[in-house]
Amino acid sequence: MVDLAVVGGGMAGLAAGYEAKRRGLDVLVLEAARPGGKVRTIREAGFVVETGPDAVVRYKPWALALAKELGLEGEIVGTLPAKPAALIYTGGRAHPLPEGLNVVIPSRLGPLVRTPLLSPLGKLRAALDLLLPRGPGGDEAFGSFIKRRLGREVWDRLAAPLTGGIYGGDPEELSLLAAFPQLKKLEEEHRSLILGSLRAMRKRRVSREKGSLFASFKGGLGALTDALARVLGDALKTGVKVEGIEALSSGYRVRTSEGPIETRLLVLTTPAPKTAELLHPLGFAALDALFEIPYHSAATVTFAFNKAKMPPRVGHGILFSRGEGFSARGFTWLDQKWPHRAPEGMALARAYFSGIEAEAEPEELKVLALSDLKRLLGELPPVLRAWVGRFEKGMPAYTVGHTERVKKIEEAEKAFPGLALAGAAYRGVGIPEVVRDGRETVKQLLAAT
Ligand SMILES: Cc1cc2nc3c(=O)[nH]c(=O)nc-3n(C[C@H](O)[C@H](O)[C@H](O)COP(=O)(O)OP(=O)(O)OC[C@H]3O[C@@H](n4cnc5c(N)ncnc54)[C@H](O)[C@@H]3O)c2cc1C
Repeated sequence: MVDLAVVGGGMAGLAAGYEAKRRGLDVLVLEAARPGGKVRTIREAGFVVETGPDAVVRYKPWALALAKELGLEGEIVGTLPAKPAALIYTGGRAHPLPEGLNVVIPSRLGPLVRTPLLSPLGKLRAALDLLLPRGPGGDEAFGSFIKRRLGREVWDRLAAPLTGGIYGGDPEELSLLAAFPQLKKLEEEHRSLILGSLRAMRKRRVSREKGSLFASFKGGLGALTDALARVLGDALKTGVKVEGIEALSSGYRVRTSEGPIETRLLVLTTPAPKTAELLHPLGFAALDALFEIPYHSAATVTFAFNKAKMPPRVGHGILFSRGEGFSARGFTWLDQKWPHRAPEGMALARAYFSGIEAEAEPEELKVLALSDLKRLLGELPPVLRAWVGRFEKGMPAYTVGHTERVKKIEEAEKAFPGLALAGAAYRGVGIPEVVRDGRETVKQLLAAT
């Protein structure tokens, strides 16, 4: 019998396995495919291409702290300087993103007043936030919260395009409490989001413009999953699919494609529907809550071009407002955003799709991405290489009621000593959050047993 089995070797499972190994436990991480899960860095012919996630935010420290523990400090890279860093395409034109945004909230009045992204009326409506009283307590849809505080234009032209990619699907229905708790807190503590952001951004002292808000590694995010896989060594079993779980009088028996494994402690980091399927025979009381977490699809298409022949591209990328006729949600100019991503003389353009558009077949995704890119930039040189990343129903969405669902799941876990659920479905979807969740889950299991 091992001390701990972790099901799933994505970022959460690898972090959980690492935490257990660091504490001297006899651990096995069981991964059906390859280590990294959604993290899919491709390194070929001098290119470093992220077909999945692309960056970690620095102000959520857990992933970078882990990287430092693993000796990767010298590998951490920030984004290249760019001003403006990003644009938003709305009303048939590209506009620079106003400087000094706190998530989606303008934290400086100057850039808000000057931005051509909003109409004069839209700006006046946004400024009403300075005077409006606090709203009701409790949870609320993210879309109605932003419209209530800052108006419809800020929602349509700024907040929706900026957040549409984080969870996939429609950002309007997201839970304010679960998906953007920091914005809920701003209203509770400061009443006005703009005033609260002004204070918060002063403290943070990093900004998109300085290029230091986001970080990655010289070898891409795969550098972190590779390092975790190295530390885990034989404790990481890839190509091992978990097919069922039984509760023993003490511990669990995990049925895998390679035979059964008995374990004292068990952490499941699989996506919520898979976790529900595995827990069904055990009579887990919160199966409905697991199934109620909606999953949306996401996809990326990255093209390499001859840089000298490429039309000019501004900043790190561009986001599209809904209704502008693009299939993608936006483009990232990877060679302009990150150092060390493409061989000299090469340009990299990455399209991001989410929701129903992301469910197209890979060849169709390439056609859609290329047609969007031509519409945006005009005539293009020939595509030299292309990479597609597809994540069907790969992004959990934290819709209104998510925090209640998670409470119910955590309550149901108590009936199964030594068993815990971790990963992107519950307490944060970003890489920093799933790293924290994987490690914390192991610490809590050990404290409870
Ligand atoms: C296109 C895209 C872009 C993103 N961009 C960013 C970004 O820029 N920054 C950011 O912070 N986050 C980003 N995210 C989110 C982030 O990548 C994910 O939320 C996070 O990587 C999820 O980690 P996880 O370990 O919880 O789940 P996963 O990575 O999904 O890992 C679950 C693992 O379980 C395995 N598994 C499933 N079933 C079984 C089974 N039966 N037996 C054994 N193993 C099984 C799977 O193979 C998988 O490896 C992005 C996500 C996507 C899809």
